[in-house]
Parts: sequence; structure tokens; C-alpha cells
Amino acid sequence: MNNLLDIQNIRKKFSILYDNNLIYFDNASTSLKPDIVIDKIKNYYSLYPANVHRSIYKIGLKASEEYENVRKKIKEFLNAESTKNIIFTSGTTESINLISHSWGLQNLNENDEILLTEMEHHSNIVPWQICSQKTGCKIRYIAINDQGELDLSNINELINEKTKLVSLIHQSNVLGTVNPIKEIIQIAKKQGAITLIDAAQTVPHLEVDVKEIDCDFLVFSGHKMVGPTGVGILYGKENILDGMQPFMSGGQMINEVNLHSVTFNELPLKFEAGTPNIAQVIGLGESIDFISKIGINKINEYERYLTEYALAKLRLNAKIALYANSKHQGSVISFNIQGINAYDLAEFLDQKNIAVRVGHHCAQPLMKVLGVPSTIRISFYLYNTIEEIDFLILSIEEAIKFFLDRA
Ligand code: PLP
Repeated sequence: MNNLLDIQNIRKKFSILYDNNLIYFDNASTSLKPDIVIDKIKNYYSLYPANVHRSIYKIGLKASEEYENVRKKIKEFLNAESTKNIIFTSGTTESINLISHSWGLQNLNENDEILLTEMEHHSNIVPWQICSQKTGCKIRYIAINDQGELDLSNINELINEKTKLVSLIHQSNVLGTVNPIKEIIQIAKKQGAITLIDAAQTVPHLEVDVKEIDCDFLVFSGHKMVGPTGVGILYGKENILDGMQPFMSGGQMINEVNLHSVTFNELPLKFEAGTPNIAQVIGLGESIDFISKIGINKINEYERYLTEYALAKLRLNAKIALYANSKHQGSVISFNIQGINAYDLAEFLDQKNIAVRVGHHCAQPLMKVLGVPSTIRISFYLYNTIEEIDFLILSIEEAIKFFLDRA
């Protein structure tokens, strides 16, 4: 029994969980949204649906105030130096694209190297491949060991005087492994390399303090943290952001425009061209409050409890192949069952109202390292329960009987 969270009370806040039997284990993809987040978005559209930063009438001022308050909340949540460090984007993907365009294209050349890991999401590989095609810089990768952890045995060779950027995933969205980012950032700093952390899988689940981590950039998405789709964050150190060219250009990101010249706005607006995703940003503020009220450390502890429970149950069945065995495991578990096609199993579970993810999880290079085309992935959040995991395990046993014992 566990009383870390008042789980029944939390579940009541998500109307999707009221009156259907949904067991939602696809939180690494996107989380469910509590009613207060949905109501906050509705309130913006029904009560003060004005543009931000430009209107002097009351509802315009209200919209701007709500929008900028969220920037303050994010600053506090990440323990960032200032609101100038917090740029609103549409998500992790846009944040990384912004950095690869506005920093990468400007600062990299054919003598440079950038270092990624074999467990990156495509969104932290493809923008760098495009950047490499344009600048000639070389991409190298930190390999993965048998435990599903980064192999750091040659890290002092991988990060060398040619390394200009080290960009890595904080927690694998497939394996669940949480990487030792502080240690890697320290090594990168000694060589003068810039560091970028893809925290899409950690900011929703564990305390992330950018001052303590001391990274140059950190990115994540609102929709994985009980927030709306269409909003993400780029945290960046002020001196680096200041030196970068804008990514998108147009309204709002300017200071003065003449027919043949332009000066740019100050941070953070220099990187927020056009009308932003106002409703989504305002909704994200409510998500941050929701998580903060419960407490991110409590959420993390509860998820660890669920994950350890699920892993112990899955390990009991010799037919289940797990793909990570790290001491530093977040609430994401990937597995396959010998002899059962992963898509067949996912469909079987869906018949039982259990939503799991199947596929390559936008990490095809990692799948190649693991030697499989796809895995089944289960990922937990604060509303999941031990009873749901028990039902999953029972359903998997039933699937094994259905697919294998009659074969
Ligand atoms: N990075 C990681 C680790 C992810 O898990 C995801 C989404 O699954 C992304 C990046 C991309 O996030 P988004 O699709 O919200 O831009």
C-alpha cells in the first residue's frame, strides 16, 4: 500500500478518467489533461480572447498579463536566472530546431564536431543532420551499453577540443534510463562546448534545476506535463541567446523596422515572432500550478514506486524481454514478448481498454542498436495505479495464452 499521493482525489480531476475504464499508459507520448487546464483555455477564449503585447484595452492587458505570468511560473519551476531565459515555442521539436538554426548554422563549420547519443529522439538527431549538411560539421554519438545506459568509457575522447555542442536526452523515451547529464555537462564545459538537454521526459516527472545542472539550453513540451499541445519551452543562457540571430521573423520580434533595415526586440521576444499560442501558454500555467501543488518530488517518488512494481512483475515472466536494466530508471518501460508481434499485443491490450504505445517511438537509431523494429512501451504518470498495473499483467498473461499456447 502506498499513500504518497491522494490518488483518488487526483483521478477525480481528469474527466476522461471518471466514467470510462481507460487505463492510460502512454504518458511518454502525451499526458492526460485535468479539467482545470481545459477550463483555463476555455476561459481565455470566452472571457479575454485578445492578442498579447500590443493591445491597450482591458481584455488585451489581461491576456498579456496572464501570458507573461506563465513565463514567471516557468522561470520559478526551472529555477532559471530570469524570464529573459524563457522562450515560448510550440514544443521540444521547435525548440531544438530554433537552436540548430539560430545557433548551429551561425557557429559551426567543417572543423567542428557535435556529440549526440544513440538514444536520442529523432527531434534531437534530424535537425543536427540538416545542420551538418549545411555547415559540414561532424556528428558523433555516445554509444549504449547492455544495461541500456550511456557508455561513458571513452567520453574524454568523444568530447575533445573540436566538440562545439553536446546535445543529449535527459531521460530516454524508450528505455526510461535517466542519463548523468551533470557529469557530461562538466566535461563538455572543460572543452568549451555548448550543452543542450532534451528534458521532454524529465521536466514533467522530476525536479529540474537549470542553475544546478548548469546547461546552456534545456527544452521540453507542455503536453507531456498535463498541459496543452502546441506549447513548449526553450530555456537558454542569456549571453548565448543574445548572440543568436532570430529563428522566425515578422511581428513582435522587432524593435524598429525601416524599408531596408531592422533592429530586433530584446529577449525573450526576439524569438517569439507573430501571434503566439496564447491559449496554450495560459493553459500551461495552470498545469505548472497543478503539478506544483501536488509536488514534483512526490510525483517522482510515486512514479518510482509504480515503475519498480511493474518491473518486478514483468521480470517474473521469462517470455518478456526488457530493454533496460539501469539503477537510474524513470517511469518508462519498453518490452517485447517472444513470439508475439508487438502490434498484435498492443491491439489485444486496446481491446481491454489499456492504451500502450507500440512502434519505434521516434528513435529508429536506438531500435537498430536494440536489434528490434519496435517495442511495446508503457509509461506512467501521477494518476496511474497499482491496480491498473495488475490488470495489465493479467492481460499480458491472457495474451500469451491466446497467441502462444494455441499456436
Ligand atoms: N524528445 C523526447 C525525449 C520526446 O520524448 C519527445 C516526444 O515524444 C520529443 C523530444 C518531441 O516532443 P514534441 O513532439 O512535443 O516536440
